[in-house]
Amino acid sequence: MHGTLFVVSAPSGAGKTSLVKALVESTPGLHVSISHTTRPQRPGEVNGVNYHFVSQSQFNEMLERDAFLEHAEVFGNLYGTSNQSVRDQLQEGKDIILEIDWQGAQQVRKQSPHAVGVFILPPSKDVLQQRLVGRGQDSDSVINGRMAQSAEQISHYVEFDYLIINDQFDTALAELKSVIQSQRLRQAQQSIRHKALLRSLLS
Ligand code: 5GP
Repeated sequence: MHGTLFVVSAPSGAGKTSLVKALVESTPGLHVSISHTTRPQRPGEVNGVNYHFVSQSQFNEMLERDAFLEHAEVFGNLYGTSNQSVRDQLQEGKDIILEIDWQGAQQVRKQSPHAVGVFILPPSKDVLQQRLVGRGQDSDSVINGRMAQSAEQISHYVEFDYLIINDQFDTALAELKSVIQSQRLRQAQQSIRHKALLRSLLS
C-alpha cells in the first residue's frame, strides 16, 4: 500500500517545525522528509537531520539531473525535496510530511493531486514577531525581512485543504494529529489496510 503525502506550510515563525517534530515523534508510520538547502547551518542544527546542507553547485547539480520533486528560493536561499527519497518511502507504505513553502506546495499539488495540504497560522502578527525574535536564531534584518513577507505567504492559505491556528501548542498538535488520522481512516485507505477482514466479513 502507498503512503500519503502531507504538505505542511506556514509563514516563518508560526511554529511549524516544532509542531511537525512533536507530531512525527508521537505518530508511528509518519516521517518528515529532510530537504536540501543552500542556507547556512544555524547553531544547533545537524547536517542530515534538520537539512542536507549543500553548496550552490551541489544544488545546481541535483537540479540538472532532475533530482527534486519540488524546489524554490525562499528568503534568498535555495530549498528542495529529493524525489527519490520521498518516492521510496511512500512506496514502503510510510506517510510523509513535506515541510515546505507555498511555492513548493504548488509544484507538489500539480504532480501529486492526492497530497493533503495543511497551512498553519499564528494567532496574531504580534505573536509571529515574538516567536521569530524568541527563537534567537536570526539577525534583526533577517527577522524584519521575514515579517515583511509574511502577508504574501499567508495569502496562499486558500490553496490548502486544512487550516490550523497555532495559538496553544497542544491544541494545534491535536488538530494536526486529527488531520493525519482522518486521512488514514478514509475508506480507500482502510479497504486496502483491512482487505482480509473485509473479504471474510463479506463471504
Ligand atoms: P528555514 O530556513 O527557516 O528552515 O525555512 C525557511 C522556509 O523554507 C520555510 O518556509 C520552510 O518551510 C521552507 N522550506 C524548507 N525546506 C523546503 C523545501 O524543501 N522546499 C521548499 N519549497 N521550501 C522549503
